Amino acid sequence: MAMSAVYLDNNASTRVDPSVLDAMLPWFTGNWGNASSKHGFGMDAAGAIQKARRQVRTMVGAEMDSEIVLTSGGTESDNMAILSALDNRLDRDEIVVTEVEHPAVLAMCDHLSRTKGVKVVRVGVDSFGRVDLRAFRTAIGPRTAVVCAMWANNETGNVHPVRVMAEMAHAEGALFFSDAVQAAGRLDIDVASTGVDFLSISSHKFHGPKGAGALYVKQGLRTHACLHGGRQERGRRAGTENVPAIVGMGRAAAIAQGRTYQDAKHQESLRNRLRDGLVARFPDCKELGDPDHRLSNTLCVAFEEIEGEDLVTLLGREGVHVSSGSACAAGSNQPSHVLRAMKVPFARIRGAVRFSLSRESIATEIDTVLEVLPAVVAKLRSAGTLRHVA
Ligand code: PLP
Repeated sequence: MAMSAVYLDNNASTRVDPSVLDAMLPWFTGNWGNASSKHGFGMDAAGAIQKARRQVRTMVGAEMDSEIVLTSGGTESDNMAILSALDNRLDRDEIVVTEVEHPAVLAMCDHLSRTKGVKVVRVGVDSFGRVDLRAFRTAIGPRTAVVCAMWANNETGNVHPVRVMAEMAHAEGALFFSDAVQAAGRLDIDVASTGVDFLSISSHKFHGPKGAGALYVKQGLRTHACLHGGRQERGRRAGTENVPAIVGMGRAAAIAQGRTYQDAKHQESLRNRLRDGLVARFPDCKELGDPDHRLSNTLCVAFEEIEGEDLVTLLGREGVHVSSGSACAAGSNQPSHVLRAMKVPFARIRGAVRFSLSRESIATEIDTVLEVLPAVVAKLRSAGTLRHVA
């Protein structure tokens, strides 16, 4: 992809930071050892993993290294969190989730409902995507094993009141899991003060490599091993560790930690510039999500009389890369479950586009988007929909 490309799809994935890549490279051809080997190569690799684990631990505010299980990413961590929570509450058979969780959580819950008879209680959101806290509290009861509420939503950027939600879960003796895949690196995460029992993160959302993630498991809680084999990760996740990716994730975590606030401020000012520019050019363009509690990098808007997917395609041809919703739902052709939960009218859901910035975003990119958009939107509107445009 040309370097002049405007990339505003950072909730789907971020660019690996050059210094992260530098940290990873020696672990491909300089030391390719297996971290389980007892010679120098192996011991050095094990040391590098240990360092990365500590960097991740610091990023999420965990107390002990042993509370961090290294995984392949957000999906695996989410799956493992739910299975682990159930293992810790064997006398309970219900899961409470918000309707706007990522498919990595919702599909796992559906799977457990189908195969194990687990009851899944879904709690709705209002038109801003805010979880109905009263309904949320009511949904949690003596049979609830785990309550799942993401820290920040990938489509709207909405940030949920996880500390309050964790308290509600604990009041009924349930465990609390938060998917912080979109929040890590963008907000300060602190598992200790928020009372989270399980928390998932994914390296490629904070300028680390793909294929690395982590699950925080509060000290004293059991972890469900999804992979069986060797004794890696204290027997909690078998399989030879992906040392370069783990090292990269650790470095990315350390970089993000020192600059979260300043990056958030930078992105917020650019995001607001984009929002103001859109509103000025397209009076019908509607901002979706909770403007008061939202990741500073995310702007989800709905255009009228336009297919978001078509807009994404045409913008892509102009070198502007955005998303028509969750990249994780790409290819499903289903209207976003998040926007449906918010009861956004179907016509608007179809016109929804997500712009997601990163710390690398710059003002000229925002200006390019604002420059390119009017002609693209006009073209789509005059053509009806792009499905009929060559
Ligand atoms: N959870 C959220 C909120 C996400 O946004 C994503 C990916 O977009 C995932 C989980 C899945 O993470 P991964 O891509 O690392 O499997």
